[in-house]
Amino acid sequence: MNYIFGPVPSRRLGRSLGIDPTARPGSAKACNWNCVYCQLGSTHHLMAERQRFFQPEAMLDELRKALVELADAVDWVTFVGSGEPTLNIDLGIMLRGIKAMTELPVAVITNGSTLSLPEVRADLAGADAVLPTLDAGNELTYLRINRPQHHYTFQSHIDGLTAFRQEYRGKLWLETMLVAGLNDDESSLEQLASIVEDIAPDELHLVLPTRPPTEPWVLPTDAEGLLRAMAILGRVTKVVHPDEAYGDFSLGADALLQTLTRTGRVHMIRRYGKIFWLGSLP
Ligand code: SF4
Repeated sequence: MNYIFGPVPSRRLGRSLGIDPTARPGSAKACNWNCVYCQLGSTHHLMAERQRFFQPEAMLDELRKALVELADAVDWVTFVGSGEPTLNIDLGIMLRGIKAMTELPVAVITNGSTLSLPEVRADLAGADAVLPTLDAGNELTYLRINRPQHHYTFQSHIDGLTAFRQEYRGKLWLETMLVAGLNDDESSLEQLASIVEDIAPDELHLVLPTRPPTEPWVLPTDAEGLLRAMAILGRVTKVVHPDEAYGDFSLGADALLQTLTRTGRVHMIRRYGKIFWLGSLP
């Protein structure tokens, strides 16, 4: 399969059938951020615009065939993969096509950077859950952690999340990666909490960089930092602990291996031996 992988077990999404909307055989990661913790390696070319990656009907055909065999073994269909899903300009067509094909709920795991665009918010309107990233409560921390393409500013990120929350009727689950020394101190967490309170997500999922990151100096926060984050962010929203937020892809290794092989990242698996799901690839 070219665009579909799994199903893979995920604690939040049960048995999740993955769709990689930025699949480009043999090509590098397609993203507009270059996060220090990214497990896919550096973003060599920061994308600015959305684009077509493949004919959406090709993915829908593949999914239709997969569901004939797997429908009883799947709890969610999830857009996630080898880059930022909303950079695929056909995301809305694909999402509507899936909803016409199956009653399974659909989730989109995204960095959230393009939510300032009305057309992206419209594309995502039909998803049952959207999981955008919010790692920073101030611009400097955002630039240090997410290292975005310059069109994607901190303010546009916050504005997009806020606008999406006001329009979107599905589940909005923010994801925050806690990186030691970057966003786990009291001041950073208080700033983040203030923004989270304004956005008012349904939940905030804490995740940790426990897989080999792009930058070797990246470390997860320690137990004290995690407790601090739970306490400060827990004042403004429901916070999900990393142990609950993480999924484990080890059982779905073959499926993920196929995807990473196709996208040229099989070296990561050979080097590190075992595959775990970190919550979100993007
Ligand atoms: S973690 Fe996600 S958003 Fe960040 S660089 Fe990697 S693919 Fe892009």
